[in-house]
Amino acid sequence: MLSFTYDILPSRVVFGVGSLDRLPEEIERLGAHRALVLSTPEQRNEGQQIADRLGSCAAGLFDKAVMHVPIEIAEQAREQAKALGADCCVAVGGGSTTGLAKAIALVSTLPILAIPTTYAGSEMTPIWGITEAGLKKTGRDPRVLPKTVLYDATLTISMPPMLSATSGMNSIAHCVEALYSKDANPIVSMMAEEGIRALKAGLPVVVKEPANLEARSNALYGAWLGGIALGAVGMALHHKLCHTLGGSFNLPHAETHTVVLPHATAYTAPAAPEAMSRVARALGAESAAQGLFDLAASLGAPTSLAALGLKEGDLDKAAAIAVQNPYYNPRPITQEGIRALLQDAFEGRRPDQ
Ligand code: NAD
Repeated sequence: MLSFTYDILPSRVVFGVGSLDRLPEEIERLGAHRALVLSTPEQRNEGQQIADRLGSCAAGLFDKAVMHVPIEIAEQAREQAKALGADCCVAVGGGSTTGLAKAIALVSTLPILAIPTTYAGSEMTPIWGITEAGLKKTGRDPRVLPKTVLYDATLTISMPPMLSATSGMNSIAHCVEALYSKDANPIVSMMAEEGIRALKAGLPVVVKEPANLEARSNALYGAWLGGIALGAVGMALHHKLCHTLGGSFNLPHAETHTVVLPHATAYTAPAAPEAMSRVARALGAESAAQGLFDLAASLGAPTSLAALGLKEGDLDKAAAIAVQNPYYNPRPITQEGIRALLQDAFEGRRPDQ
């Protein structure tokens, strides 16, 4: 019989091509008048364009966002927000830029308006992460959940095909793990299945025709649903493995998700048959794990940890770290099982079933 708990997170979403035009009125809706715009150095132009659109409502541009939010950059951004008298942050970019806005919001009352340009999904979660002395601390705090999110697929056209593919697979990973989460609930599961379906429909077109706005919209819609899933329910083995590989071996975020997902799915499949049939159905595949592997391969994304630069000699250490703190997973985690999973991921083998 059905039994679940669902904390619905409060955020406003404005979705659609051209939604960026609504930026000034959305800033006003937040009661803000001095927005600090955030970007990476690579997306400085986009940041400047947003600041220009805001005119006198822009307090300034901070363009030093980088992957994993180093505390030194977070402190600089916090100082700048204070010095400029900013009353909100506008984050234009991927998970790294949204992450920097969250680091500011964590120690202030500044609301965030996020304008995502990748499929990472951070804009829909109350999860923050800050890296200090080589260690990434993460936590959940309602203050860091963006108040407003503008999804405008126009801004994703410039996303290189390979980042589109791996960032999209990262979002699919949120959906897959939501379906067998210990907190799974029927509403989030519906969104997760729909998210996989939309990303599967959008991504193959996006990598071939990056300017195809319909495919970009489909993929962005799927990424929104993936972000909701990530923010609403706990993740499992796949995310644990990716954090271990990213944190301990400095592997790139979205690519690692792409490579590990089919293997974590194959490992968990026997213990989560209903979730697997929903993943397979959304992919239009016979098997969830094979369908995920085939999708990544068809997008031209990396399919082996070897291709990401991991050394075979690191696999024992990675398996040992991954089993150190017990982590929820429908199929219990054993060092032997994880070691075998990592070997398959290292070699880039297509799952047997
Ligand atoms: P990213 O934000 O690091 O972006 C990668 C690069 O692509 C950057 O140089 C960026 O400027 C550029 N880029 C982004 N969008 C572009 C576009 N449309 N056109 C051209 N270039 C573009 O990558 P990401 O995968 O979005 O984010 C990864 C980070 O986000 C990781 O640190 C991860 O831990 C974090 N994350 C956090 C959450 C959360 O809920 N807190 C969720 C997902 C990811």
